[in-house]
Amino acid sequence: MPTVRTVVRFRPLLEKELDKDVIVRADRVEAGKPLTLVKIPSPKNGAEEFSFAFNSVYEQATSQEELFTAEVAPHMKALFQGLDVTIFAYGVTGTGKTHTMRGGLRLAERGVIPRLLSNVFRRGKKITKDTDGATMVDVALSYYEIYNDKVYDLLEPPEKRTPAGLPLREKDGKTMVVGLSERSCEDLKDFERLYIEANNNRVTAATKLNAHSSRSHAILRVKVTQTTGDMVKESTASAIDLAGSEDNRRTDNGKERLVESAAINKSLFVLSQCIDAISRGDKRIPYRESKMTRILSLGQNNGITVMILNLAPIRSYHLDTLSSLNVSSRAKRIEVREIENEIVYKQAPRTNSGLGGISMLRQPLR
Ligand code: ADP
Ligand code: MG
Repeated sequence: MPTVRTVVRFRPLLEKELDKDVIVRADRVEAGKPLTLVKIPSPKNGAEEFSFAFNSVYEQATSQEELFTAEVAPHMKALFQGLDVTIFAYGVTGTGKTHTMRGGLRLAERGVIPRLLSNVFRRGKKITKDTDGATMVDVALSYYEIYNDKVYDLLEPPEKRTPAGLPLREKDGKTMVVGLSERSCEDLKDFERLYIEANNNRVTAATKLNAHSSRSHAILRVKVTQTTGDMVKESTASAIDLAGSEDNRRTDNGKERLVESAAINKSLFVLSQCIDAISRGDKRIPYRESKMTRILSLGQNNGITVMILNLAPIRSYHLDTLSSLNVSSRAKRIEVREIENEIVYKQAPRTNSGLGGISMLRQPLR
């Protein structure tokens, strides 16, 4: 059975860190093999070294394009075959999660998200062209954040937020956000306009609460709908930038951060508990104990999942790096079912029913 693909990306040292000790390194099982190991000294005994194994490890100099080509592009075909694809970034604040997922404005600096969208639009246009217009491809975007275990729509202005946030509901074995808005996107320009506006909403909302956006989980959902006659194939790509996984008991937090930290830590703590429970083969997985784990549903959802652990290889991150290596190296044992979504048929409205429009009829193909 395929598993969650777990990869590590080191970030380069920042200007102000150039004199710092690099203590974490990439390694291989034996000469000639690809980099799959991360080695880190024991915090108690510097002579002792811990080793963690991953599916792949990317060194400091890895470009945005190299990472996308190696870890995301190979799943785009599956997305259009009807599989859901989830890419999520995990790690301590300041290790490169947002850089990896969103990236910079310059072309070469663009991260996973704009590259994914660009790929989706290109494929969509090609499918329509290759089928002489028989298959239409629609792309729709949702974008939301989870802050203090509450879900907020990022495509809506912060003034429209209700304090309780949006509720979750399980439907067809998937967790949905009830009332989440969805915007249709024609091309990359369309996407970028929406995405920039939504990220501004995120910052505005965080500022109002005297918080920082690295304290919430941001989830972008790209829905791809392929329609051929009355056949509708739907699949989603999710790109998730998780909140910083640092242990806030170790950082100097003011009182106002206490509630917030507890909730952030709780969801990431529940995530690590879920990963432990799944890798132990437990019957009961505590997914339901946080909204983030309900949505992520590791090992529950059908589809492809890639976890990117971001690391800053310097000493000041030592303990948090060790704990994030511990969590993510276990995630690669989580099995996933790479099953395509069912095709849905549009059903013509009954003439004598009072309901207008088109309803969907679910029918298994196989
Ligand atoms: P996080 O989202 O995990 O808190 P950021 O993505 O904000 O971390 O990265 C922290 C800093 O490091 C930012 O200044 C970012 O531009 C820089 N950075 C992260 N990864 C890279 C990289 N691969 N190459 C160059 N700079 C990076
Ligand atoms: Mg960030």
